[in-house]
This record gives sequence, C-alpha cells and structure tokens, in this order.
Amino acid sequence: MTGKQLLYLTFNAFLKERFGERVQKITLDAGLTCPNRDGTRGRGGCTYCDASGSGTGAASQIPDVRSQALSGMQAMQHRYNAQKFIAYFQSFCNTYAPAQHLNALYDSVADLPGVVGLSVATRPDCLNPEILDLLAGYSKRLMVTLELGLQSCHDVTLARINRGHTFKEFLDGFALARRYPLRVCVHIIIGLPGETAEHVNETARELARLKPDGVKIHCLYIHKGTALEQEYIQGNFQPILQEEFVASVCDALEMLPPSTVIERLTGDPLKKLLVAPEWTLRKQDILSAIEQELLRRDSRQGQYWKE
Ligand code: SF4
Repeated sequence: MTGKQLLYLTFNAFLKERFGERVQKITLDAGLTCPNRDGTRGRGGCTYCDASGSGTGAASQIPDVRSQALSGMQAMQHRYNAQKFIAYFQSFCNTYAPAQHLNALYDSVADLPGVVGLSVATRPDCLNPEILDLLAGYSKRLMVTLELGLQSCHDVTLARINRGHTFKEFLDGFALARRYPLRVCVHIIIGLPGETAEHVNETARELARLKPDGVKIHCLYIHKGTALEQEYIQGNFQPILQEEFVASVCDALEMLPPSTVIERLTGDPLKKLLVAPEWTLRKQDILSAIEQELLRRDSRQGQYWKE
C-alpha cells in the first residue's frame, strides 16, 4: 500500500503514484444499451437501475462522446487544475455493440491531449475475445480498466435484483478478462434486498480470492422511477442504515488484498432523484465514519487477507 498512513489504498493515491500528479475521471455516456434491458438477457434492467443506465444521462444533451469528454476536461481543468484524465465510459454496457462501433467510440477520446486512461464499465456477460483484443490494443499507451459489475456472489440476490447473470457467469467473464493486459475493477453493492452482513462478507471473501486490481463498493440507494422504488413503496424493501453500511465496508476492506485499489466507497445518488436513504448524499460523512471505524478497530485494508 502506498503511504504508511493510509487505512486503505485510495484511487487518488494510486493515480498519483502512477502518474505523478492528480488524474481526473471524466464520465461519458455513449448512448448504448444493455442486454438486461433490450430483451437479450432480460427486460426492465436491474431493479435499482434508472433510465440513465446507472450513468449521467449526458448522451441526451451531448450525443458525441468526444464533445462530452472535452467539456468534462475543461470543467476539471477549471475546478482542480487537472491536466491528466481518464475517459470513463460509465452508462449502460460499454462493450455491448459491434466492435467497429466500439472502436470508433474509444478512438474518439483516446487521442485527446491529457487522456492517460480509458475505463470501460460493463457486465461480465458482455465480453468476447474480439472486444477484449480491441481494449488491450489501447493498453500500449493508456491505462485501460475494465469495470465489471458483480454486485453480489449470491445467485438468489442476483435473481431478486433482476441482474440477468449468475455468479458463475461473472467468474467466467472475469477469468476471460484476466487473459488480457487490462486492469480489472469489480463493483459490489452493500444493502441489497434480502442480504445480511454475512452475505456481504461472503461476497467480499470471494472477491478477495480473485485479487482484482480495483474494487468499487457502492451503497444501494433508491432512485425515482426504478423497480426498487416500487418495492420500497410497497414495504418489501428497507434500505440499509449508515452504521450497518460502514461496518460492512470495514469488514470488506479487512478481507481485500492490500494491493487492490479502492476506487469507490460510497454510492453517488442524484439529490433530485433520490428516494432513500437520505444519508447517502453525505459522502464526506460516510468516508470519515469508515475511517473512524477502521481506527476504532485498529485495523486497515488487508488486515485479514492471506495470500
Ligand atoms: S447491467 Fe447496468 S445498465 Fe444494465 S440494467 Fe443493470 S445496472 Fe442498468
């Protein structure tokens, strides 16, 4: 882990060590879709996913990703004086299109001055050798990260949230991606319907075994217009409490390898769309509660991890 004082390996610390300065992620919406929405794997999508495909919805205002990237980079230059950027294809499934179309999308941002990385979020069942070869081609000059959604290792939960894939399918996708020179970052969610702290611990244990390059830990929040909102209104789902979330995050951090970069530790709900839980809007409070809990335990990332 970089820096003795770090309780966990933050993405900022990792990027600073690798690139020598601040690197800012620019979120992009390529206007794609997802096999869990178009009927290929399912319809309606994951129960928590809103109309923007868990992204910004930027494609409805600025359809081309190069313009989105330029505008995002300009804003980050202004705000943080950032000079280096990661182009992050966030919304929907960013490997779910013909390779030629994906090539044009990735190309349109990969050569922008200051772009040092390409991050591509997708589902584990949306990978094939042609697309992985394409992505691997960029890794000669950029840091390329494939972001794979797992969410939970429990098939019962995956079915309940209408994920449209199993844990085994995630493992197959992960193993395939591992054959290419790509960083692999895995997303999990804490607070899923029907899950206890022990369920989350099992997911974290499985994840630790895979030694991913990066992990994003999200808190499940309810956005307006989702199937999860209906479950909540009907009294079939209760969101997790902040203290439960913090405890589960700390348990997961203790299990993960010290070398895994912790790329996110909260959700990122939009205030105007958020139904519950309201505490997920206070990101800094959550991060400091996690830090306090690790200090209270006299613990840190990797505390219980064994090779
Ligand atoms: S896989 Fe992603 S884009 Fe597709 S429905 Fe689920 S969260 Fe939304």
